Amino acid sequence: DLRLHDNAGLYHALRSGKPVLPIFIFDRDILDKLTDKDDKRVDFIHQTLTSIHQELQTLGSSLWAIHHTPLEAFKTLTANFDIEAVYTNHDYEPYALQRDAEVADYLKQHNIAFHTFKDQVILERHEVLSDQGKPYSVFTPYSKKWKKNLTEAHLQSYANADHFGNFLQTTAFSLPTLEAMGFRASGAVFPAKIVREDIIKHYAEKRNLPAVEGTTRLSVHLRFGTVSIRELARTAQKLSEGWLNELIWREFYMSILYHFPHVATGAFKPAYEQITWRNHEEEFQKWCDGTTGYPIVDAGMRELNATGFMHNRVRMIVACFLTKHLLIDWRWGEAYFARKLLDFDLSANNGSWQWASGSGCDAAPYFRVFNPNLQTQKFDKDLKYVRRWVPEFQSFGYPRPIVEHAFARDRALKVYKEGLYG
Ligand code: FAD
Repeated sequence: DLRLHDNAGLYHALRSGKPVLPIFIFDRDILDKLTDKDDKRVDFIHQTLTSIHQELQTLGSSLWAIHHTPLEAFKTLTANFDIEAVYTNHDYEPYALQRDAEVADYLKQHNIAFHTFKDQVILERHEVLSDQGKPYSVFTPYSKKWKKNLTEAHLQSYANADHFGNFLQTTAFSLPTLEAMGFRASGAVFPAKIVREDIIKHYAEKRNLPAVEGTTRLSVHLRFGTVSIRELARTAQKLSEGWLNELIWREFYMSILYHFPHVATGAFKPAYEQITWRNHEEEFQKWCDGTTGYPIVDAGMRELNATGFMHNRVRMIVACFLTKHLLIDWRWGEAYFARKLLDFDLSANNGSWQWASGSGCDAAPYFRVFNPNLQTQKFDKDLKYVRRWVPEFQSFGYPRPIVEHAFARDRALKVYKEGLYG
């Protein structure tokens, strides 16, 4: 949660009456697994921390950052500081839950209190349950209950700045460089941290058009907590119910991952494990490279490869294409997105991939196979988006379609039916 303002854990730490040392761990358990040494996310985090460090320096303090596993980082901390308590925010992913439990255990052994808070979402864990006390697996009733349970207090910001005098006064620390951690700058241009009210106001009309600025591009900021969800939800309430619903989708998928952690590796609906994927490696590579011969699919994949972003409508089209037209396991697509997306978030990515393949909670029915050309006519009728990313799509050099649509559709229906109904 990379911000000093309106941050729950930090707020409570600052109010504890003790000097507060802000820390960040470049977690080797995560970083060592990344394939790309110019990973855009690591670069984004590093740049953001650099500006937080500078902000802290103007307050006479500094950020203590280390490149290590979490447990080793805490061992270093306890060896160097007299720590009374550790404050952090909740995280709902299986890895994070296990990590935080290990850290809590270690701190307990050293008589250090561990305080954790809700910060990333408006409503978490058991705050949105059915009347029978069960987690929802369908979005519409979840969102209705979410709205019903929402109170003014949930949307109130924490006044961190009122307590900035409580940061530990030392400017002794410096951040490890990207190079020292085995990474390098990505050269990426990151979406601005600006809440575009003009976009939010017209969200309903423009959200599905990839060629226009119709969505906010705040996803990377929500992902890394450089913006406060409370602030955004207040704006949504004021300006657009449709946009508020997207913020609720984000919390819905977090809730699914929290209550049904098996989705991280397997289908939400177990019957979908019986589908016989073709998993053709060359075709997968063409999909990754944006050379399938379907301009809208190729445009999306090229946008992703070049920028780390892809418009939501196009994410749906390429995901459906991979799982239905090419019959490639959704987990392959999920992993490729996880490697490339700037806003990669396990819950939203996993939930959306399972939605596209049909295996997820509240998913698209298995027989819905998007026709890429019809999708293009509907959402990019002037071909502006396609032209931007695949300028050669009408030339001789552009590949023929990797598979014919009607044939692929029939094949998908047959294979899905066989898998699901034997
Ligand atoms: P806006 O349209 O302005 O929406 C505002 C915010 O709401 C987003 O920033 C995001 O935090 C949230 N949001 C919007 N749509 C969704 C959704 N369907 N599910 C969950 N949250 C949503 N989103 C991610 O944040 N991380 C991912 O890894 C991710 N993977 C996806 C994979 C696939 C196959 C698909 C179809 C969608 C995926 N999404 C993911 C959801 C969505 O595409 C992005 O959140 C959205 O495109 C981000 O652009 P924006 O910030 O302009 O969103």
